[in-house]
Amino acid sequence: MATSAGSQQATSHGSLINLVHWEYLLPIGAVHLLACLAFLPACFSWSGVALALLGTTVFGTLGINLCYHRLLAHRSLKVPRWLEHCLATLALCSLEDTPARWVANHRLHHRHSDEPPDPHSPRDGIIWSHMGWLFRRAPQRRSGSFFELYARDILVDDYYRSLERHPTAILWIYLAHAILFGLAGLLVGRWAGGNWQAGLQLAASWVVWAAFVRTVLVWHITWSVNSLTHLFGYRTYATDEDSRNNWLVALLAMGEGWHNNHHHDPASASVQHKWWEFDATYYVILVLERLGLATDVIQPRHVRKAATTTS
Ligand SMILES: [Zn+2]
Ligand SMILES: [Zn+2]
Repeated sequence: MATSAGSQQATSHGSLINLVHWEYLLPIGAVHLLACLAFLPACFSWSGVALALLGTTVFGTLGINLCYHRLLAHRSLKVPRWLEHCLATLALCSLEDTPARWVANHRLHHRHSDEPPDPHSPRDGIIWSHMGWLFRRAPQRRSGSFFELYARDILVDDYYRSLERHPTAILWIYLAHAILFGLAGLLVGRWAGGNWQAGLQLAASWVVWAAFVRTVLVWHITWSVNSLTHLFGYRTYATDEDSRNNWLVALLAMGEGWHNNHHHDPASASVQHKWWEFDATYYVILVLERLGLATDVIQPRHVRKAATTTS
């Protein structure tokens, strides 16, 4: 009996270990721990703090909001292929999954919002929707049929397909970008401080703040869109899920917090439905459009309707 109970316990431990998505838990846990080095005076510099804040906007707005979300997941605009790949690489440097996986999970969220099989509904718990869902293995969301259904258009692209074929590529890209920050810090510190010790100190602060702290900030801001904006805020539209407009998340996530507006009209490149619902990401899209780098920008539904009526 004791042997049987023991083997049963070993089996349950084994199945628990198999349930954990270690490929996500380990890097995400490691970057959080590395970001804690920011508390060490040796890893501090004001330029590092500035880079972390600026980087949160650049990598989060251009990489995640503009590229992964509005460009790839919703096809709300078009940009030249070279620019799309540059923006997607910024997203990869945010360590938020490959384009195909991010897009497929997001499209699944829109199709089944707040009901099974929504991957990150707060109805399953706020921690689950914020980050817990990433750490539970979900083979059904790794199957060929899943990608065929939700990311077929993404995987026709050679770059995105090669990322799926080489699962560790995203980690190497992330590591390379952290090293670049380190090298830049080393050279600038050597130049400004006049010696290599100053260079090393600045390099350490730039790696910790501009890469690790910034990554953690971008993660939690993106994850807040999945968790907080399905829980807290006002609803302009009676959509058939729990999406809400949350001004705090909108401020931090450069517009993405106007999530009820987004669920009401997911195709639109803009989530600004009232003048004060400021959508910074959309203004970046408008700048790209003015520069001739963005075309076929989809306007909000009320603008599209008005245009149809007048034409
Ligand atoms: Zn949502
Ligand atoms: Zn969306």
